Amino acid sequence: MKVKYFCGCYTDSFPLFGEPDECFSEGEIEVDEEEWKDGSVTFRCPSCGHLLCQFEGHFYKG
Ligand SMILES: [Zn+2]
Repeated sequence: MKVKYFCGCYTDSFPLFGEPDECFSEGEIEVDEEEWKDGSVTFRCPSCGHLLCQFEGHFYKG
């Protein structure tokens, strides 16, 4: 099944001044339906490299 993901992670470390940059990478990925039901889907963001976990709310159905 296909779900959408949105990263939203902060990229790199916090700067000395101002707000850290957020990663706005999003897209559609194919996930295992059993994993989705378990809430255990993970996906490595192709943009910033953070590991996105389903329980953190990075995925949603389109
Ligand atoms: Zn990212």
